Amino acid sequence: MAFTNDILNLIRERDVRFVRFIWCDNANVIRAKAVRTTFIESYLHGEGVGIAAAQQALPVMYDALAPGSGLTPAGEAHMRADWNTFAPLPYAPGHARVLTDIYDGEQPWAHCPRSFLRRMIARAADHGLQVFAAFENEFSLLRPSEHGPQPFDTTVFCQTWALDQAAPIINAITDALEAQGLQVEMNYPESGPGQFELPVRYADALRAADNQIVFRETVKGVARQHGVLASFVPKIYPDKAGNGAHLHFSLQRDGRSLVVEPGQLYQLTAEMRAFMAGVLHHLPALMALTTPSTNSFKRIRPRFWSGAYTCWGIGNREAALRAPQPSAGRPITNIELKTSDATANPYLALGAVIAAGLDGLAKGMALGDPVNGDPADLSDEERAARGIRRLPASLGEAIAALEQDELLLDALGSDLARSYLAVRRAEWEAMKDMPHEEEVRLLLERY
Ligand code: GLU
Ligand code: MG
Repeated sequence: MAFTNDILNLIRERDVRFVRFIWCDNANVIRAKAVRTTFIESYLHGEGVGIAAAQQALPVMYDALAPGSGLTPAGEAHMRADWNTFAPLPYAPGHARVLTDIYDGEQPWAHCPRSFLRRMIARAADHGLQVFAAFENEFSLLRPSEHGPQPFDTTVFCQTWALDQAAPIINAITDALEAQGLQVEMNYPESGPGQFELPVRYADALRAADNQIVFRETVKGVARQHGVLASFVPKIYPDKAGNGAHLHFSLQRDGRSLVVEPGQLYQLTAEMRAFMAGVLHHLPALMALTTPSTNSFKRIRPRFWSGAYTCWGIGNREAALRAPQPSAGRPITNIELKTSDATANPYLALGAVIAAGLDGLAKGMALGDPVNGDPADLSDEERAARGIRRLPASLGEAIAALEQDELLLDALGSDLARSYLAVRRAEWEAMKDMPHEEEVRLLLERY
């Protein structure tokens, strides 16, 4: 699809009026400027579509600059289309989209999240490693009502009645995702009210992050066509299951999996263990990138299967890192980070996980023993003895951890670290005491 003629033909065939140039900002809001197709040829090459540099200083609440971002109302950056990601939008006839890297003149812009992930992929390649990933999303469907959005259903985990009621919507979401090249692997109702999960196939790291943008856009866009609101907000209903976006990752060297030793089911390679140890070591700070909203921390609670402690386990849904249980002779193929949700910018989250893992690898960090059972059931002394820490309980704590994490700050680079932290701090200040209903109402509009 990198070819100009293919794109022009598709634009004509599908009667595309606008091509959305998409970026995802530091607040993880997906935004676009849509170029009229009659003018598209001037954007196929060259400079791209301009945006104000200040875009990377906007918190989730409103379009006003967060203080201390290092960005001002002056200055422009340019979105350059990655034409490999061009696709007509099944849920918005007459529109297509393309994902972009943001440039400052001829260089990738220091504040560009997608360019940050590209840098971390290159860093992994310097170690001879290829990273593969998938975001496994849970989301909630809500019906509009005069009293505000209401849960689509009140069914429990995997109840077939939920599948029946939501079938037209889930089928249409599946068709739309597959039309855009994602592969849907499964579909099941999750525990929470109107909650569903629709895992998609893993891909190389850049594609996996792109897929996360496409997934979120498509789920919301198709649900809207059915008169329903779909939302990825981590904790909509205070005492019900939250929405995770578990981040699955695996490593390869020269096309060969590095997860377990050849011919073994359980025995993780030394490299995989060190990578995981790096992720656990940096997890308190990483959370400012993988679970970055005030709401995220309402989800990360012991006994909600969301990974509230720095530990790992095989088939353990209370461990922050879970190695899925091998079955039927199939080995562990990937590792799942549960401390991740869809309020995270996927480029920043995945890039930071790679940086943390590579740090574990470079320093030969040791991974402790796997935890079987709920880490919340261990005594404080037992947890301390095993190096298991309770993760930050608020965005404020995670921000403080990131501010101290030289490795992650260095990976982001000083400009991006500064704008990102400014946005996080602005959100924390504005939302830390916000009543739950007000917070959810605001976030339902965004995620
Ligand atoms: N809903 C849980 C979460 O908040 C995850 C449940 C599961 O293991 O799929 O992450
Ligand atoms: Mg789930």
